[in-house]
Amino acid sequence: MNKQGCCVQCEEPIYEVIETFPDGEPKRIGSPFENAREATLVLMSGSHVNVTFCEACLQFPDFPVVHRSMLEAWKRETTDEFRMARGGKPMEESHRSATRGFLWTRVVDPPLGVLSSAPISRRT
Ligand SMILES: [Zn+2]
Repeated sequence: MNKQGCCVQCEEPIYEVIETFPDGEPKRIGSPFENAREATLVLMSGSHVNVTFCEACLQFPDFPVVHRSMLEAWKRETTDEFRMARGGKPMEESHRSATRGFLWTRVVDPPLGVLSSAPISRRT
């Protein structure tokens, strides 16, 4: 949903990063830090999404910033550079236009509130 292993709002890592992609994005993440939180957000349409926050941002969620960060993560994940850096293939045109349609439904569906949140438990 948001950038892997990072807070959706300030984009600081909230997980230990074991390995990164050439573009600097986390490839493999390890244990969450103490301040890592998982939150379920309610969108304007009434649907829910799960994102990760750091504890500080979760206390003062800035929904326009969160919305932009979610859109950027979705958009980035559909670029050919992103897919090919991860061993994927360039996207077919039909898939690309479907993805653009999906993105548009997200552009007009901003998060409105935090439904629930919980600390992310450490994997042992
Ligand atoms: Zn944060």
